[in-house]
This record gives sequence, structure tokens and C-alpha cells, in this order.
Amino acid sequence: MKQTDEIQRRRTFAIISHPDAGKTTLTEKLLLFGGGIRTAGAVKSNKITQTAASDFMEIEKQRGISVATAVMSFPYQGKLINILDTPGHKDFSEDTYRTLTAVDSVILVVDSVKGVEEQTEKLMKVCRMRDTPVMIFINKMDREGRPPFELLDELEEKLQISLRPLSWPISAGKDFRGVYNLHEKNLHLFRPGKTVVEEERLLVKDLDDPVLDQQVGSNARRLREDVALIEGVYDSFSREDYLAGALAPVFFGSALNNFGVRELLETFVEIAPPPLHRETNLRTVEPDEPSFSGFVFKIHANLDPRHRDRIAFLRICSGTFERSKAFLHVRQGKQVRFTSPYSFMAEKKQVVDQAFPGDVVGLYDRGDLKIGDTLTEGELLEFQGIPSFSPAIFKEVVNADPMRSKQFHKGISQLTEEGVAQMFTQGKNKLIVGTVGELQYEVISYRLEHEYGAACRFEPLPYSQARWISSEDPQALEEFLRFRDRNIVHDKDEKPVYLAESEWVLNSNMEKHPKVAFHTNSDFK
Ligand code: GDP
Repeated sequence: MKQTDEIQRRRTFAIISHPDAGKTTLTEKLLLFGGGIRTAGAVKSNKITQTAASDFMEIEKQRGISVATAVMSFPYQGKLINILDTPGHKDFSEDTYRTLTAVDSVILVVDSVKGVEEQTEKLMKVCRMRDTPVMIFINKMDREGRPPFELLDELEEKLQISLRPLSWPISAGKDFRGVYNLHEKNLHLFRPGKTVVEEERLLVKDLDDPVLDQQVGSNARRLREDVALIEGVYDSFSREDYLAGALAPVFFGSALNNFGVRELLETFVEIAPPPLHRETNLRTVEPDEPSFSGFVFKIHANLDPRHRDRIAFLRICSGTFERSKAFLHVRQGKQVRFTSPYSFMAEKKQVVDQAFPGDVVGLYDRGDLKIGDTLTEGELLEFQGIPSFSPAIFKEVVNADPMRSKQFHKGISQLTEEGVAQMFTQGKNKLIVGTVGELQYEVISYRLEHEYGAACRFEPLPYSQARWISSEDPQALEEFLRFRDRNIVHDKDEKPVYLAESEWVLNSNMEKHPKVAFHTNSDFK
């Protein structure tokens, strides 16, 4: 197959949601459609008795939360689907933000009972930063959820995106009868508890078809009214607006009952973008360029404690990735080659000889690769936009076993390179770890002990905000750094960061220093 055909075939995306909205369930159902896994309907027992398809880490097994980001690929209707899974737990949201740099579109899952939740809003904000195309799946329609029009209003207002329903629920909760496909004008009737993939769609000529009344009884009138309202209020669906990140098509269903998932997947395959161009420090990189380029968006510790190597996940942006071929590691300025790169077909890891734009390969690494690193065939490209975001909790990390100081430092630096948390330094010796949640400190302690044989202690610090600072006026910057000396730390790239005790303190300092710019992430120009 030609390279352009390979590119056009690929759909690389992530499923995102507030925890518990149904991301894992939906992922499994999508994999089931693609033959990626054979069993379904056992999501809960999967979590307890065996590692779910998307889970990697031992911590996961212990706690039953998805800590790691994995990749799952499967063919569907002539396309190759790459799902980048993201951790559900909010303490690992930064991991999710980084994964969003490696996808071309997302599916956002919303719980019909809860509507827009905290993480839903944060994740959408990150999508908007990059104009990522978004499709929305309103899940759990088998439960007594909120009225659909009310949900749409809330989504539109809180997520600041225009919506266009492409399917519409017929009642909800105990009385949930199915969804009407507004696009294809057919009816899909709901059978609770159905766990196998099967065809069960009913074609209606139009909404006046008496078949509708036979099937859904008194709900037919309501459906007709709703649809008339939708067609009146919403513009017709524009793929162009969707691709520009300005319009999100909305689907209703129940992932647990495998309902409405096929509509979602079929539409996804039809409208979602193939691999897109990406910005670098030098120029825009198009996927169909002959030269290979890619970047690392995720590093993962090897689960096997006998092997200390790590897996770096590389998103391929252009050209062809080839096994054992020498590529330039741009940051280190040296040639590297990978003899056993992995892809993740179905439930299995397998060695790949070639991979194309949109694909993600896992590379065994002994500590040379960091998040954000670029590989090319010689050009000094650096892909933009893998920012660090402001952590919310800050603690000083102290070595608790002086005899194991080397292991301690190695462990801390490797774990922060993996993106488990952000490391800041103050002066020569003080190490500060910033996270978005307490759980990350537990992960660090656990992994330091189990993987590096080191011990640490965390001392709480009174900060809640971090801002990367810059100024066009070097004197103003210098003054601020001196004035706020005790609150200034440096990030992994030696950029100065100001830590504030509270939002109030932050705001008052911003007012006092109008010439200094305060950035919520590291990716400022
Ligand atoms: P995640 O945290 O977003 O990955 O959510 P999960 O997929 O783990 O789902 C959270 C809970 O919601 C689980 O108990 C699921 O069984 C349940 N769930 C998922 N989809 C549905 C649905 O369509 N209907 C109902 N009633 N429950 C669902």
C-alpha cells in the first residue's frame, strides 16, 4: 500500500471523560466491534480478576484505577483505528493532557445523570487549546438521567462549543426505548443487557411512518416533536466546523448495554480526521512528507522488575518508521536505532517492521528518551505543544536513606522524566515535587522503593499555584526574581517558576508586577 493510503486509513484518537462516566466500558465495546477483544460485558470482573486490555501497571492491579496510558489498534471498515487510552483517575490528568498532543481527535464521554463534571471541563479546555475535533457520547441513557435538551444546553454553555445532535434518545431510564439516527433516519431499539454485537436496526421511511408508533407507542409523538425542534434550532451538521474544532456532533447511548456505540463508531470512521500536520520549532510537518519524524509523548516504566528499561511511546508524524533504521535523537544529537519496536494490535504487543503517521510505537529505552523528544532523519525539528501544566500540590522530597542517595536521585529523576510528577529545584539541594493529586506521591514512594530500592519522605509546602514567568523587560524580571526569591524555583528546563500560596497572593503579585507575564503552562513563547 502507498504511504498516502496508509495515512488516509488511520484514525488516531483518545476517549476522555470524568472518572466513572464510562470511558473504559466504551473503549472495550469499541474494541469488541473491531475484533480487538473477544469478550465483553464483564468490565467489572475484568477490573478485579484480570488486567483490563488497557492497563499496564502493578499499581493498577492494587488500586483498580487506570494509571497508565496504553494504545490499542484494530481495523474497522477499511480503516485502522488507534485508540490512545488515558488514565481515568484525576490525579493523573496531566498524563491525559499529554496524550491529547498525540491524537488527531477525541471522543468525550458524558454521564447523562451527572452532566458536565470537573474533569469534563478541564479536558475540553485542553482540546480547545489545540482545536482538536471532538465527538460527544452521552452515556448511561438506561438510567434516570437529565432531559436531553437540558444536557445539550449545559454542554454548550460550560464547554464553550457548538453542538449538533446526530442521534436522539427515545425516552430514558427504565423507559429508554432506543435512539433515532437523525442522519440516516433509522431507529435502533434498545434491548437491555445485550452484550453481543448484532444488527438490530429498524428502518423507518420518515418520522410519520406508523412503524414508529407500533414500536415505541406514545413516545413516537414526543420524538416527532423533539426532532422538529432539533431541526429548527440546530444548523445542519458541518464536517468542516467539526474538523476545525468548533462543532461537536452528539450521540446518545449506553456503553454498558452496547447501545448507540455502533452509530458512534460508524460516524467516527466516516468523519474523523486522518493524521494531521503538526507544528515544530522550524516549520509545519505534513504526514505525507517522505522523511520520518515523530515525538515521545509518554514514557512508561517496564513492569518486569528484572528489566530496568522503559517504554517510550512515539507518535509518528511523517514518513515511515522502520525497525533497526538509524534515526537522529534531536536533543542528544546522536543516532539511535530500535531493534524491537512494538505496536499494540488487539490485546497483544507485537514487533513491527514499519509504522506510519498516526501510529504509536513503543520503544525500549534505557534512559535516553524523555517526554517531548523528537526523532527525525536528520532535521533538527522539535515538536511544539507538550506543555507542563501548573501542579496544585507541592512537597519537598527528602532522601530518607542516606546510604541509598544515588538510587534516590536516579529514581526521582527518572520518575519525573516519565511524567509521574513535575520536579522543581530551588538552590543547589532542594527538590520540590509538584503534582495534581495526592495519589501521585504514593505512586512515587511505592515505585522508588520497589524499582530503585530507595526511600523518601515528603514535606508539605504551602503553595497551591505555579506560574512560569517571563518578561520583555529583563530588569523587571530580574527585580521580580529578587523580590520573590523564596518563591522562585526552576523547572526541568531551568525555566524560572513562581510558586504562590494562594490565588489571592498570585493575583496581588500579578497586579504589583504588570511587566511580568505569568503563564499557567510551560509552553509560552
Ligand atoms: P471510567 O471511569 O470512565 O472508565 O468508567 P467505567 O467504564 O469504569 O464505568 C464506570 C461505571 O459505570 C461502571 O460501574 C460501569 O459498569 C458503569 N457504566 C458504564 N456505562 C454504563 C451505562 O451505559 N449504563 C449504566 N447504567 N452504567 C454504566
